[in-house]
Amino acid sequence: MVNSSQRIFYSILMRKKDCERCKNSFSKLYRVRYIKSVKNWVFICESCVPEVKQDNKFYKYGGTWKG
Ligand SMILES: [Zn+2]
Repeated sequence: MVNSSQRIFYSILMRKKDCERCKNSFSKLYRVRYIKSVKNWVFICESCVPEVKQDNKFYKYGGTWKG
């Protein structure tokens, strides 16, 4: 059972995700793949994108997530 106040609290929590790289929370993240061995998409923040993107042939952009 989830009452309405719990549901509101839950949605506030869900508005942010952690960046895979710098571990900070953001309400906007980029869904990317940047390591050959990693099959799953990861979410990274705007400032980490250029860092993983640079000279990386495995880098792949999979969309933008907004909380
Ligand atoms: Zn980051």
